[in-house]
Amino acid sequence: MRAAYVPAVDAMWEVRELRRPEPGPGEVLIQVRASGICYTDIWSTTGVIPVGVPGVVGHETVGEVVAVGDGVHSRVVGDRVATTWILQTCGRCEYCRRNKPVSGVAGLSCAAPKTSGFSVQGGHAEYLAAPEAATVLLPEGLSFELAAPVACAGYTTWSALCAGNPRPHERVAVVGIGGLGHMAVQYAKAAGFETIALTHSPDKHALALKLGADEVVSDGRELAAIGGADIILMTGNSNRAAMDSLHGLRPEGRMVLIGLPHDTDFVIPGPETGINFVVNRNQIIGATHSGFEYLTQALDFVATGKVTPMIETYPLARATDAYERVASGAVRFRAVITY
Ligand SMILES: [Zn+2]
Ligand SMILES: [Zn+2]
Repeated sequence: MRAAYVPAVDAMWEVRELRRPEPGPGEVLIQVRASGICYTDIWSTTGVIPVGVPGVVGHETVGEVVAVGDGVHSRVVGDRVATTWILQTCGRCEYCRRNKPVSGVAGLSCAAPKTSGFSVQGGHAEYLAAPEAATVLLPEGLSFELAAPVACAGYTTWSALCAGNPRPHERVAVVGIGGLGHMAVQYAKAAGFETIALTHSPDKHALALKLGADEVVSDGRELAAIGGADIILMTGNSNRAAMDSLHGLRPEGRMVLIGLPHDTDFVIPGPETGINFVVNRNQIIGATHSGFEYLTQALDFVATGKVTPMIETYPLARATDAYERVASGAVRFRAVITY
């Protein structure tokens, strides 16, 4: 099979011929039809995340089941499925025995998870073998191209919104209108929340309104000036922007951090800044994939047309271009490789 292979840390992706995987017991063989590029693929390639290379990265994988291994009972040939980052947990370590969702952080979560594109072959390949339990069925009528980015970006943003525990009357602000943020605005709006987009890029104001934002502001003080938000979803890659947006967090408001920023440390601003985190009884929550019910819900929003990921597609032969464009920031939303 052909795959986008990363030969070494910091090396360019190459389209190579690799041995096609066989489905083991309990596994399905997926003929990949689309795989989205998550920014963590770039970090694996450049060594910021020190696993997955050399190898095939990718964990936004959708396709069709073309073979099943021994003992598979919930999937059949012809099923359209999605699979994501965590393929399997060890089931035996302290965390698994507490039924805790895996975080992927060594030593603080499952001792030996099987992770797509990190510990085993990832999704930027024509075929992927995955445990049947690591797949979800795609809703009918949903295209592979639109489903792919939901397997991580959509799953992450919808899980994050839910992790903030929004109540019906509350307002949601989304910081950053990029790969995650453009979906977060749509999910918040589709779920019925008054939604405010917070972006420093003036050229994204009109887009944010088109995505469904009720209002667009540039920073935390502007957010405060229009009444603030009960939930702030921090989707960008800037802790500076996250700290600034706290100016607009209402009393008892929750900030949910989804991005993996590396510009500066996150420091809770002191009262001298006008942000009184303690007196306001605020919370900061980290969020990632929270369980397959959230992935199914995230896919359903897209299948029913309430949320539409903004994608650029690249055939596998152009995977290297796709990588370069994502790494350089030229892809503003989501790049999807097609097969
Ligand atoms: Zn991801
Ligand atoms: Zn475990």
